[in-house]
Amino acid sequence: MSFDTVIMVDWSGGNDRGATPKKDAIWTCIARAGQAEPPLYHRNRQIAETYLQGTLTAEQTAGRRTLAAFDLCFAYPAGFAEKLTGSDDPLALWDWFAARVTDTPGFNNRFDLAGQINTQFPGTGPFWGNGRPNHDVPHLPRKGRDRTGHDLPEHRATDLAAPGAFSPWQLSGAGAVGGQVIMGLPMLSRLRHHFGAALSVWPFEAPTADIVLAESYFSLLPASYLTGHAIRDAAQVALYARALSALTPDQWQTVLDVVPTAEGWVLGLGHQDLLKGAAMPDLTPPPLRNDCFAMPQGAHWTPVDDALAHLRAQLSPITATETIPLAAAAGRILAAPVIAARSHPPHANAAVDGYAFAGPLPDGPRTLPLHPGRAAAGDPFNGTVPDGHALRILTGANIPDGTDTVVLQEDTAANDTHIALHGPLKQRANARKAGEDMTAGSDVLPAQRRLTPADLATLAACGTGQVTVHKRLRVGVLSTGDELRAPGEHAADGQIFDANRAMLLADIERWGHAAIDLGIAPDDRPKLRTILDDAADRCDAILTSGGASAGDEDHMSALLQGTGTLALWRIAMKPGRPLALGLWQNTPVFGLPGNPVAAQVCALVFAHPALAHLAGAQWPTPQGFSLPAAFSKSKKAGRREYLRARITDGAAEVFPSEGSGRVSGLSWATGLVVLPDAAAQITPGTPVTYIPFASFDL
Ligand code: AMP
Ligand code: MG
Repeated sequence: MSFDTVIMVDWSGGNDRGATPKKDAIWTCIARAGQAEPPLYHRNRQIAETYLQGTLTAEQTAGRRTLAAFDLCFAYPAGFAEKLTGSDDPLALWDWFAARVTDTPGFNNRFDLAGQINTQFPGTGPFWGNGRPNHDVPHLPRKGRDRTGHDLPEHRATDLAAPGAFSPWQLSGAGAVGGQVIMGLPMLSRLRHHFGAALSVWPFEAPTADIVLAESYFSLLPASYLTGHAIRDAAQVALYARALSALTPDQWQTVLDVVPTAEGWVLGLGHQDLLKGAAMPDLTPPPLRNDCFAMPQGAHWTPVDDALAHLRAQLSPITATETIPLAAAAGRILAAPVIAARSHPPHANAAVDGYAFAGPLPDGPRTLPLHPGRAAAGDPFNGTVPDGHALRILTGANIPDGTDTVVLQEDTAANDTHIALHGPLKQRANARKAGEDMTAGSDVLPAQRRLTPADLATLAACGTGQVTVHKRLRVGVLSTGDELRAPGEHAADGQIFDANRAMLLADIERWGHAAIDLGIAPDDRPKLRTILDDAADRCDAILTSGGASAGDEDHMSALLQGTGTLALWRIAMKPGRPLALGLWQNTPVFGLPGNPVAAQVCALVFAHPALAHLAGAQWPTPQGFSLPAAFSKSKKAGRREYLRARITDGAAEVFPSEGSGRVSGLSWATGLVVLPDAAAQITPGTPVTYIPFASFDL
């Protein structure tokens, strides 16, 4: 089940609105496969009806199944149609209105007709509201509260389920929908007769015809989704047309699967999550600026903090978004804030097993009669507990009516009819308040957050089934150097095993990105160029190691230089040779040093935050803490130093060698000690900053 075309219609009950597009007028929008055409303004109903009939005919001729959705109640609360037409069939009511509504661009009889209808019901009402201050309409009260005894419900079931829906009885005042319903049903009736068997009306008829009409409601999606049009009505038809047209056949099946009643149903109501997912614009953000890595060049070495500040300022998210089930979202980065769909806890409930009663309990011993029944989690007690009585209650059960306080089972003595307990007990003791953790509609987690396992519990608890996240950043890893062999292969004299690739690929996986193994590139410029071309197609970012300096065999920096976007960053840090940063066909490349220790330290210090930011996350700053040094060192001024370190007896011990090829020292260490840019004289006991590898998300 699906539709090739969706036409969204915002109807109006008023007279001709003039040639210039205005709000509170008729707007329509056509969308196909998630792409909306520009919304169209129709100055009056006659023009709009002609347009709709013509467009539906054109779609039918082109062989496209079409859903036309109207922001218009398709039926009235139960009992209304039957009284007027003798039948509860809403489609018969459409014809009834078509026969009685007078409609021209400058005049229509909606108020008078509503007054006449009111005479057919006992008391006063149901219709009310009169748009003309100086003209009383017979039998049409001006205020809703002036009505009595008309015996009709105020709302349909679907309006009660839709947050903020107005009653179709209200004909005037801000937000009123009554007029446009009266002025819309005749148009629907005519469309229906015009297209005959090629048209069906959901949910009263099976949505199987070429053309399906359905009722829509413009408050199913958050207002924050409305973009792109200065006039709200235009933004609404565009948004809902786009969202509905993006639904998959399975999702259509779900959305259309309602039990048909004569009151009808709002399309998508109850499935707002699906609509939200479909509405989320899947726009790929603009690429990085060509000069994003350009740093003022000079003889001086750039301090680490300046280099980081530059990356932070110049980089922006480059991945599109997608909506995925919550259970699959650990480690993913939220692209939109999550709002609580429901309060947590949804009701006041018991924090312990015991007995519920109305508190407080004054000081001293007390006996309370036991009320029959019990309240358990998932099995609430439905009656009211009489004052002065207690009810058996279990942890997690809703606090029953008539009670607000729970006494712990262990603090009572009980027989079949009474419990004995000791005061004092404060009112609401051992009861969790409704919404004490999260309240419906409040912000739960912000955009840019990388979801932790605990976040999944938090989001689940407030009813989040799906989250909109950034697509995973695809990060390629390439090792460069003629001397490199893959571990496990035969390595001849002069050859070494590629240590960096496995490490960097694993870093990337830990950071939540999709790691792509690009293998080993030889020190050969044409071959390296081919490899980078291919990598730029498949990756959102590339990490390379080796060949990043300015020597004869430093082909990575030479190639990046050739593309015109190389920036060779001379960063005042140890370990770490120059960092070669550049864009290869718009794909950012981080050229890390070849030495494994330098490669890893530069990856942790620069690639970790930069990739997180490109992936849509907040810029991470690793959390370090101060520890007494367990070593001595005299450090020169002018560069920051990162030492492999671990904690022994509460002090920071460093790896005996600072050699940056000593890869085993990375395994020995549990983190890094960071020595400041300035000179430092360190002796055992001097406080130093230790950053555990876990702070780098490893
Ligand atoms: P380069 O930056 O290419 O001059 O390399 C610096 C040092 O790191 C040289 O000793 C290289 O052999 C070594 N090296 C480069 N890439 C790797 C790698 N993937 N694994 C282990 N050592 C490497
Ligand atoms: Mg090399």
